[in-house]
Amino acid sequence: MNTYMSHSGGSNKNILLTSVFGPFAQDDEYGSRTINPMELFHNQVTREQGPFSLRMFHPSFGLLMIMENISAPCTLLDFPDLERFIEEITTKKYDIIGISSIIPNVGKVKKMCEIIREHQPGATIVVGGHVANIRDLGSRVDADHIVRGEGIRWFRRFLGEDENAPVKHPAVKSAMDARIVGMTLRDKPGDVAGILIPSVGCPMGCNFCATSHLFGGKGKSVNFYETGDELYTVLCDLETKLGVRSFFVLDENFMLNRKRALRLLELMKINAKSWSFNIFSSARVIQSYNDEDLIRLGVSWIWMGLEGQGSQYTKLDGIDTKALVKHLQSLGIRVLGSTIIGLENHTPENMDDAIDWAVDHATVFHQFMLYTPLPGTPLHAEHARAGTLLSEEECPIADTHGQHRFNFRHPFIRNQDETEFLRRAFVRDFQVNGPSLLRLIRSMLMGWQRLKNHPDPCVRDRAKWEFEPITATYAAAVRAMKIWYRHDEAMYREVVGLLKGLYSEFGIRTRMIAGLLGPLLYLAMRREEKRLNAGWTREPEARYEKNAAALALESGESLAATLTKKAARVKESLAVSPRPEIETPLP
Ligand code: SF4
Repeated sequence: MNTYMSHSGGSNKNILLTSVFGPFAQDDEYGSRTINPMELFHNQVTREQGPFSLRMFHPSFGLLMIMENISAPCTLLDFPDLERFIEEITTKKYDIIGISSIIPNVGKVKKMCEIIREHQPGATIVVGGHVANIRDLGSRVDADHIVRGEGIRWFRRFLGEDENAPVKHPAVKSAMDARIVGMTLRDKPGDVAGILIPSVGCPMGCNFCATSHLFGGKGKSVNFYETGDELYTVLCDLETKLGVRSFFVLDENFMLNRKRALRLLELMKINAKSWSFNIFSSARVIQSYNDEDLIRLGVSWIWMGLEGQGSQYTKLDGIDTKALVKHLQSLGIRVLGSTIIGLENHTPENMDDAIDWAVDHATVFHQFMLYTPLPGTPLHAEHARAGTLLSEEECPIADTHGQHRFNFRHPFIRNQDETEFLRRAFVRDFQVNGPSLLRLIRSMLMGWQRLKNHPDPCVRDRAKWEFEPITATYAAAVRAMKIWYRHDEAMYREVVGLLKGLYSEFGIRTRMIAGLLGPLLYLAMRREEKRLNAGWTREPEARYEKNAAALALESGESLAATLTKKAARVKESLAVSPRPEIETPLP
């Protein structure tokens, strides 16, 4: 099924790329689960933080990358519900329909293929994303092609286009509809980081890592941009088109390519760029850079695997992760630590120690995930060989997302006790370290104090725009926390200490804003708490976009005329919404 035969007349074919359908935050027969909403942070990082949970949606970047890099007419439908998907394929004719999905949503892919066959029997169905790693996917869904790994090259080859052409980067914001403490954050140009995707895959090849193994596993990755010069050009383009200076770098181990990162740094210095980057990095790699390089490059936020005390991973060999996190956060670099619950050596007896070890890092954010052998990984192969994988009758595939239960027989943890251990980890992190928002503001204050008098004007400039929110709205959030935690002595002390630090650093203006807005934010938090207790959930809004070729096809105009109009619209939107003073320093 995984054929690479070219689709004849490829570039004239009308293509629809779609994610699977929602709603997502509910239990249903297609594989949605309440515990597995489409909000990355609320799903697996801040899920037990109530109104303090950071909630936002991220577009399907893989589909956006493919759309940007084919010249055939292409329409993107992201997060439709079932009715919207049916409407799309019953009112428009497509030659090729591509569906992207994660493994637990395989039931949705099956349903979508059935609907396509019914309404558009002539369409070629292509399925990709993590779901493609299910070895017998071809017998589960009625697709014509299953694409494992990187999709741009596959689609170009399939359409008869030049698969080696340079990769164009879409200009897209990293997140939408962000919400915290009962308030929806601004969603205008410049408010949210732009997305940057330099590479996919990670050569470290950790045994459980589905992303690494989707793109080749140990020793392998796919670089869309090989050099710092190429990256710099892309970043300048994103800066202009999106009006942003901060970038969410969707690359599993961005700084691993040292030559590329250091050349980017060099170009930023030459051209006096004051950018900031939210990145993913392994501990050993980030430790190999000196502080000044991290600061000047603008590394401001790192998602880092801590995995577990004494875990087998070489990326953590000999690294004192607690000291590393403390040091990074003292530079204003916010760390999101990621810990696995249910490693081979975990038992009901040592689980509390394992959780305490993780919580003791006091990272700004903390992700906890169950050890989960996913198809395509060495961990899955190992369990398959040992006969310790649960059957789908015992654990439905829709539950194999790492936030609910094991899909294998753990040597020591039984009776689905892992569900409670996982919950306990989130709760303890919240109880001991407080809301991530509090920790974020504390780290930003340290960063401001460290960088405000830095000798490099670009670093001072970044410190000014990146940490500006703690002088106003974020200070008000701390003031609201003071009311929230008035009956919790330990947390109250923390909050008051931070508030004093903010007032003494930023003075009367900050004190006044916090005094005025804080009580209002407190009320918003109370309202949010009520909504949450009543079972309120959030769903992403459907996105619908067409590339220039699809717009031209629809309007009957020439492609050149459509491109000129599109460029004028971008220019106009930037003129109407100049970069604001305050950018949201959230990923
Ligand atoms: S270092 Fe992180 S991204 Fe890389 S393989 Fe390991 S878990 Fe995956």
